[in-house]
This record gives sequence, C-alpha cells and structure tokens, in this order.
Amino acid sequence: MKKHLLTKSAYRYGLVCDRLFWIYQNNREQLPEVDESTQAIFDQGHLIGNLAKSLYPGGVEIDWSAGHEAGITQTGAAVGKRKPIFEAGFQHGMTHARADILNPSALGKWDLIEVKSSSGVKEDHLSDVAFQKHVYESAGVPISRCFVMHLDRTYVRRGDLDVGKLLALTDVTQEIKPFSAGVPAEIERQLSVMSQSEPPEAVIGSGCNGCVLHDECCSFLPARNVFSLNRAGQKSYDLMNQNILAIKDIPEDYDLTQRQSIQVACEKTGEPHIEPQAIQAFLKQLKYPLYFLDFETFMMAVPPYDEMSPYEQVPFQYSLHVIQSPGAQTEHYSFLSPGVTDSRPEIMSALKKQLGQTGSIVAYNAAFEISVLKSCAGHFPLYGAWLESILPRVVDLYIPFRNFHYYHPDQNGSASLKAILPPLTGQGYVGLEIANGLAASLRFREMVFGNLEEERKKEIRNALEIYCQQDTEGMIGIIKALYSFC
Ligand code: SF4
Repeated sequence: MKKHLLTKSAYRYGLVCDRLFWIYQNNREQLPEVDESTQAIFDQGHLIGNLAKSLYPGGVEIDWSAGHEAGITQTGAAVGKRKPIFEAGFQHGMTHARADILNPSALGKWDLIEVKSSSGVKEDHLSDVAFQKHVYESAGVPISRCFVMHLDRTYVRRGDLDVGKLLALTDVTQEIKPFSAGVPAEIERQLSVMSQSEPPEAVIGSGCNGCVLHDECCSFLPARNVFSLNRAGQKSYDLMNQNILAIKDIPEDYDLTQRQSIQVACEKTGEPHIEPQAIQAFLKQLKYPLYFLDFETFMMAVPPYDEMSPYEQVPFQYSLHVIQSPGAQTEHYSFLSPGVTDSRPEIMSALKKQLGQTGSIVAYNAAFEISVLKSCAGHFPLYGAWLESILPRVVDLYIPFRNFHYYHPDQNGSASLKAILPPLTGQGYVGLEIANGLAASLRFREMVFGNLEEERKKEIRNALEIYCQQDTEGMIGIIKALYSFC
C-alpha cells in the first residue's frame, strides 16, 4: 500500500467520512473510475482554472510533471520572484497543498485564491481554504487574505468572453476563521485514521449520497429499501438503525405519511394503487388539441452563446406531439439544434406557430419546461407576451403521480417519468443509446463542441431524436392509461 501525503482533497474526504478518507489515502486502487458526468465537471473545473490564470498576467506556473520534489523546488524559486504563482505547492510534515493562485500582497505576504467552478462559495470551500492556509503558513509562507474565485451567474455573455465579469472574487478571510481554529486537531485526527491498518467501518449517513463508494458500502441493502421510501429523510436512517431494511418489512403501525403508507401497502401486495376520482378530476382539465411538449437542455460553466449565463439551462431540442381531437392521429414535430449556434430564437419561433391558440400544453414536471421558456423569453423579449398567453394552458402530468393518485410498486418511491412509464404503459428506455436527460446533454455537448467524426455525429443526432420523442410518446401513453382507470 502506498501512503499519500495529506492533501486538500484528502482533507475534504476526511471531513466527510473516515472510511472514504482511509481508502483514498491507503488503497486508492479500490476507488471506482471517474464516471462521465464527474469527468465533465472536472473538465469544466480545469477550463475555469485556466481562465482564472489569465486574470494574473505574468504569473509563474509550477510544472509538477517532473515529480513532487521538483515541484517543491520550483515553488521555492518562484516565491522569491514575487509574481503571481499558479499551482504553488508546499509541504509541512505529512501535509501538502497546492494553491490555484498565490498573488503577492503587501509586507512580503501572499493572497491565496482558490478557484472553483461553482457559482458561489460553499461551506466545504471554506474548510478547504482553511486547510491550505494552515499548510502554507506552517511551511513559512505568510497569507494575508483568502479568496474564493467562482462563477458569477449574473454574467450574461455579449460578444467576446469577459473573464473578469464571468469570474467573481469573494473575500473569505473572515469566514474561514471558525474553520481554521479546528484545522491542526483535525489534521492530527486524520493522520491517526490514516495510520490504521484496516479501513474504518462504513457509517451510512447523508454524506453517502453521491459518494463513489455508495454501492459498495450500501450493498447490504435490498433492492427496494427504506432509502427509496418517498420523501423519508431521517426516517430512512431510523428504520435502518432498527434493522428494518426492506420497504415491505416496515410495520403497519410505523409513523408514515399517506404517500409512504401507499408505497408500503403496494410493496406488500404487489398491486398498484389507483384513485379513479382524483384521476378523473385531473383529466377533466385537459382541453383539445393536446400538445405534449418536452425540452432537452444543456448548460455550461462558460456560456458559449451570447445572451447566456453560466450554468443557464439552454434548450437545444424539443419533441412535440399533437392530438387535435379525441381519436385523431398524432402529429409529431421536433427540433434539434443543427450545430454551434444558439437555437433558442428558432425554437421559440417554431413553438409559437406549432402550439396554436388553444388547447392544453402537457409536460411532465412542467415547472422545468416553464422555466426554460421563461428563461428564453427573458433573453428574447419578443416572445414575452406570447409566453404569458400560453402559460395558463400548461398542464403538469406529474401532478397525479406526485400526489400518488396512481402508484405502482415498480416505481420504487419515484414519480419520475422514467419510473412511471414502464409499469403504466410497458414503454421504457431500455436499449436506447441515450436513456436520460443527463446523457442527452452530455452527448449534445460532445457532438457540438467536441471533435467527432461526421458518422458519430449522425449517430448521436439519431439517438437524441429517438430519446426525446420517447418522452412525449410516453406522455400520450400515460394519458391513455389514466383514462382507462376512470
Ligand atoms: S458510502 Fe458513505 S460510508 Fe461508504 S465511503 Fe462513502 S461516505 Fe463513507
């Protein structure tokens, strides 16, 4: 086993979970490979890091490719030049940290700038900066002020990228003080955990959500377990601590919400729960023609288009099925952005024609579709009045499922379209190259901003069309199924 120095990444893990920390430090090979979406986040982080450096012209970049000792030596030489330093690294005992940017300040001190691709300062950034400050000062590098540089979501791109406005600098010198106080003791504690011969036991808690070792640590849980109990929060942990792991094993008299009780009852009987009157009341609000609408969107840390902000959801595709009257054939319209240019004006213009003047516009979790439309109209005010005129026509197909007017045990506590569709209609996403919104977004970005062969681009376009169409066809199937219950 190779022992690693205690870096800022390791320190952050140590604050979350001793087991994760121990494995990261002592047996890193046990960690699964980084998945595609995490890699995309890392890539955006590197991009932001490089843009941040451009704000400090004349800076010296430390080259760590020749190894740790060479990097430390280079850093020592750079410190003497009193210029901005990128990736300056210092070691003190078993601790080691590299600063994204060190900027010379008055009296021979340095400002520490930690660059993040988030749109604000988070608590774990403060503990990260506090750890770094401790390492640098322990290594003899005095720090005067600490900053987190992050994206400014109020920035709207207009023309060339303005990095000075894209990135905001927040002074966290005061905010890190409560975190700094505990750093020496926490380092001692983590070094002690690191020296243990075996990994600590898993302690399942909220920190496990999204952890790379989640599946391994939670492998003792059955497939339909108390963590899929609808909106359960702490209740799931309480049940687990009582060794009640499967939904079907939750006692009848356990304190559950009405929806949780429905879920548990369905799990025990294997039968769906159906409330015909409530479903009928929902269906009554539908007015023909019916328009079934679904957007696919993407977002990027660095907006590639004018009139776009960091991490703004921008539509690149929609699918629209229309049924003019009961029993009529469905009509299908779709749009998929042809390339690198912003398609929002075309999307708004096409929808303005295709959505007509009357009839219900049905979306699943319509708040998302509405937010996308409002965002577009915000940037393109030409469509503001039209948008206001269609909003009263929007019907959210999510509502009967969110309210458990229909629930099938195979939903496993979820009311998402992906969870509803297979048990209710027999339709689904199995076998599709693109089977969820995240994959659609990643493929689109790869197709448009990546460096792919034409053949592969065609394959992705095809897969995107199939996926988005499946969402709106699925909604039609759901409506038919709901009518069959009344
Ligand atoms: S899943 Fe939970 S217990 Fe396991 S390593 Fe991750 S945070 Fe720790």
